[in-house]
Amino acid sequence: MPGALTPELRAALEARLPADTLRDAEPRYLEEPRGKWHGRAGALALPRSADELAQIIRFATENGIAVIPYGGGTGLVSGQVAPGLEAPLLVSLERMRRIRALHADENVIVAEAGTSLAQVQEAAADAQRLFPLSIASQGTAQIGGVLSTNAGGVGVLRYGNARDLCLGVEAVLPSGEVWHGLTRLRKDNTGYDLRGLLIGAEGTLGIITAAALKLVPRPAQKGTALFAVASPEAALAALTLLREIAGEGISAFELISAQGLAFLDETGPDYRAPFAEPRPDWMILVELGLASGPSPQEIFEKFFEAGRADGLLADGIIAQSAAQAADLWHLREAIPEANKRIGSISSHDISLPLGAVPEFITRAGAALDAHGRYRVNCFGHLGDGNLHYNVFPPEGESRDAFMPMAGEVQALVHEIAVSMGGSFSAEHGLGRLKTGDLARFGDPARLAAMRAIKSALDPQGIMNPGAVLPEKD
Ligand SMILES: Cc1cc2nc3c(=O)[nH]c(=O)nc-3n(C[C@H](O)[C@H](O)[C@H](O)COP(=O)(O)OP(=O)(O)OC[C@H]3O[C@@H](n4cnc5c(N)ncnc54)[C@H](O)[C@@H]3O)c2cc1C
Repeated sequence: MPGALTPELRAALEARLPADTLRDAEPRYLEEPRGKWHGRAGALALPRSADELAQIIRFATENGIAVIPYGGGTGLVSGQVAPGLEAPLLVSLERMRRIRALHADENVIVAEAGTSLAQVQEAAADAQRLFPLSIASQGTAQIGGVLSTNAGGVGVLRYGNARDLCLGVEAVLPSGEVWHGLTRLRKDNTGYDLRGLLIGAEGTLGIITAAALKLVPRPAQKGTALFAVASPEAALAALTLLREIAGEGISAFELISAQGLAFLDETGPDYRAPFAEPRPDWMILVELGLASGPSPQEIFEKFFEAGRADGLLADGIIAQSAAQAADLWHLREAIPEANKRIGSISSHDISLPLGAVPEFITRAGAALDAHGRYRVNCFGHLGDGNLHYNVFPPEGESRDAFMPMAGEVQALVHEIAVSMGGSFSAEHGLGRLKTGDLARFGDPARLAAMRAIKSALDPQGIMNPGAVLPEKD
């Protein structure tokens, strides 16, 4: 197990680096968004280049110091915060936030790891291109963190997740070597996929310092609509129907439940209720991005007519302006904040084979009813089979009384998802919260291969110890 950055080691490292590269970590680097876990730090390193970072990592390797890479700090599984470590060295890439190049004809942008996701989207928009990865934390999340967690979000259905959108990376490996892997090639079959390994490794195999990312053309026409659907089955059937009508033009297909709107009412954020009472139990928020041909309005009208005739859709709102579209998206994006204010007993980021989603919702709901009294807010990226299935105490009751049940609730939800061919972590990663689930549900051969890769690349285990890999029995 790697050790702490003691004051003596900190002074020795400081002497090797340019002035103002190390400093004390302010509290924000030691917290995470849900406010549940807190870390400590021997120091915070703020390198200005991959070479400077390589020097830092070489020192950490020589002296067996634990290193925690820190991006925007928006990760939801405590990968960036290590409560169990005494005084690790935190590394933030916030000084490395240059867009190094934008090749509009190739649809490629090369950005340093400390660039925020929103900055990359803006640079792409300035060049009349789109970087299609979109998550609610994009103003703060950084490219390094987004790749290291293999983030998903609302555009995966059409454009894929962070791994799918990355062509090459530059990284500092645990040995302290810089890997210059910033290729812009779409085809490069030259051995093991080290890029693919670093993406989603949550800082356990090295630190990403820059990435070459795919851009796509900006759709000429965009449309947003919210529909009331009869049930989760109807929502899935509606996805199939919309695919027949809109083809590849569907950019987002999100599920919202009546419980989500009830939480918005309860916590009071400013929003406009979309449908009259009685509220539908389930809604789908759909975005279209089309090149040319029929307009989104025409497609949505055709979809609504056919969906109503099939008994799938009950009501609908087609946004008539950018402001109305933003209002509809606000509904979806305000739900995580409302969840936070209500306070979940246990939150789950699960994925399922698409066809299994409705049965999962029925089975998990019945199992929770049999277990205790809970409220469930089930929402998320339905088009990807990715549900955020969050469990809360009954209205007016304190969460504290229910927290002793949190472990059982989580096990129950994850067990049902895995038994149906799903995953217990769809897009947030494992961090330190889900290593136990990997030990429990992970394929033993895969886990052994993961351990072998970790010890080959990081024999001293200095990179983000405690994250991703479960401790051995
Ligand atoms: C409001 C909100 C909405 C969100 N919505 C989504 C969503 O829709 N989809 C989704 O997938 N996620 C979502 N997230 C989770 C989070 O935003 C993503 O996981 C994001 O990719 C984390 O990026 P970050 O820069 O904040 O990384 P951090 O939180 O700082 O770090 C995350 C992990 O990556 C490692 N890391 C960070 N930078 C590097 C680097 N340069 N090299 C190597 N390792 C590194 C850290 O050690 C840690 O293990 C949401 C979070 C919030 C708060």
